[in-house]
Amino acid sequence: MSVAGLCQLCENALARHTCRYCGRQVCRDHWNETVGACTACAEAVGGDTDGDTPDSFDDDHPDGSRLD
Ligand SMILES: [Zn+2]
Ligand SMILES: [Zn+2]
Repeated sequence: MSVAGLCQLCENALARHTCRYCGRQVCRDHWNETVGACTACAEAVGGDTDGDTPDSFDDDHPDGSRLD
């Protein structure tokens, strides 16, 4: 019998969050609060992988003059 409310990643702990991407219910250990998704999806969307993220060049003030 499957008990509702178990983490669908480890099936070992109570699910406390529902992933917005895959809809899985996951426990705290498998929840990435920063991304707001389960750890599987958090990796997929690139929580901490850099490479796709364009670097912001800060040295030349893109919005040069701010007039009040
Ligand atoms: Zn889990
Ligand atoms: Zn997910």
